[in-house]
Amino acid sequence: MNFQPILDSIDAEIRPLLGRGGQVANYIPALARVPAERFGIALRTCDGQEARAGDAETPFSIQSISKLFTLTRAMRRMGDALWERIGREPSGNPFNSLVQLEAEQGKPRNPFINAGAIAVADRLLSLGDRKADLLAFMSELSGEPIAFDDEVAASEAATGYRNLALANFMKSFGKIDNDVAAVVDLYFHQCAIRMNCVQLAHAAGFLCRDGAHPLDGRPEVASARQARRINALMLTCGTYDAAGDVAFSIGLPCKSGVGGGIVAVVPDKLSLCVWSPALDHSGNSLLGLKALELFAGRTGLSIF
Ligand code: GLU
Repeated sequence: MNFQPILDSIDAEIRPLLGRGGQVANYIPALARVPAERFGIALRTCDGQEARAGDAETPFSIQSISKLFTLTRAMRRMGDALWERIGREPSGNPFNSLVQLEAEQGKPRNPFINAGAIAVADRLLSLGDRKADLLAFMSELSGEPIAFDDEVAASEAATGYRNLALANFMKSFGKIDNDVAAVVDLYFHQCAIRMNCVQLAHAAGFLCRDGAHPLDGRPEVASARQARRINALMLTCGTYDAAGDVAFSIGLPCKSGVGGGIVAVVPDKLSLCVWSPALDHSGNSLLGLKALELFAGRTGLSIF
């Protein structure tokens, strides 16, 4: 399939809609300043074909998309022991909710809600993983140097009362081993990684190649079994409270972030990333989801 004309046609259809709906995340001050009228899309197939359109090379804050990569590192290093502290069920609650955590004694429902990602950050710190290791991992996967946006990290730290509450709450149940300040520092920085659609389409490539390195095919970023399981979690928990709707209308494993990015995977075929900063009521990029729906419709690609 020649993907370039398909991405061009999606860009042409989305562009007139920019600025006409949704809202840029404003609860993190540094994100509130990002212009809403942006749209980018990029993909890379398992055999190395690439296509991109629109603002595919403009960097943005990857936010919760980072949860995909920290989860991968933790699964690779801990195997099934990771699941003693974190569940694998959709939460049915907002991504930063405290309510369910109390009822479930500090064990987060899944690794993609904030509490779950904070618990993953704690596991990584216990394994000796540091911020620099995460950046090195992202750089190796995308084939280019990747950095934190320090202004976004500082902005999150200055306003992240709820994330601190989640971390302290889990600590009170004995479910966080490290110092809370160090855990949320890693979490705020992972959210503040800056990447563009092309880099993210590269980095997520191991998920469509049974865990092999996205660019050179080397084993193994994750085992084939782990890659399948990460895709399963993306499908069931990767798009906040809209995961059922996304499975219904797009039919691909996706992980979104409040910076407006969404990574999607077509197993055994390709990885792609869309970005448009204005979000819908569930916190997913409004036009990003629309673009993925157009993509699935035009290519006939879906896991179903
Ligand atoms: N840094 C954001 C937060 O913790 C991430 C949210 C997201 O992208 O889902 O609130």
